[in-house]
Amino acid sequence: MFGMKEVCECPICGKEYDTNPGTCSCGFEGLVFLPCYTTDAVREKYEGKRKEMTFRIYKFAKQVYYGEKPYESSSLVTYERENRIDVDEALERRGLAVVDPARQQKNGLPTVAVEGLLAMRSNVRALILNTDEAEYSVLDESGVEILLLGAHFKRFCDGGLLQYRALRYLWVDGKNRHFMADDNVLFSKDRTKLHLYARSRPGEEYRVPPCVKILEPYSFFMPHFLKKLYLPKGIRIAQNALTIHNAYTKNDNGELVKVQPDFEVVYY
Ligand SMILES: [Zn+2]
Repeated sequence: MFGMKEVCECPICGKEYDTNPGTCSCGFEGLVFLPCYTTDAVREKYEGKRKEMTFRIYKFAKQVYYGEKPYESSSLVTYERENRIDVDEALERRGLAVVDPARQQKNGLPTVAVEGLLAMRSNVRALILNTDEAEYSVLDESGVEILLLGAHFKRFCDGGLLQYRALRYLWVDGKNRHFMADDNVLFSKDRTKLHLYARSRPGEEYRVPPCVKILEPYSFFMPHFLKKLYLPKGIRIAQNALTIHNAYTKNDNGELVKVQPDFEVVYY
């Protein structure tokens, strides 16, 4: 096929190999050859390999989280406000960012990951977030597909999180007292709130468990594969939970109409 070049590049440290060593010197396991430029047909052919790679990055991030792989935390740009510390930017060039100011600061102020924490840092595909809080726009202009919330994380300032790039993996430390994740869906620990559905989560149907009382903002923002969403009767749906509430589009008659979700909502 027209002399297409395959490269074996580590998605974490960026090191390139001529022959695949399997495990990179940085500790990342599961290197694969992928084409360095693609057409749609080629992209389809390598889809399985790319999925496998994303899963490997997720596994690597968990190993780093549990200290099984040595990895330095990302350098952070922080600003001290009156009653909080803004974590403004993670200076990260590798494929995984570890944002853990809890380990660094000791004056007791809550740390907040703010808008665009990883903006333009296109290498970063996975984020371990262990601030106290995060703004809904923390992933703005980032390529993060894998999000791990640490034991320390307490709240989303606006109830939810907007996924700019679709998340595929969503995970929470079992020791976290405020959140839990179940099959790439994020809930409050008591499961009365549903905060986030990973946009790239496979599956055409999803049934929100009957214990859930509220869908938080952006929880079902443009899921890729979802066609049917089952909701328990009486559930509260926050503004922006199923679509952006003030988004309008032109219909066939040229009239402005509210953007509706692409999936069907069924109450049970
Ligand atoms: Zn590497």
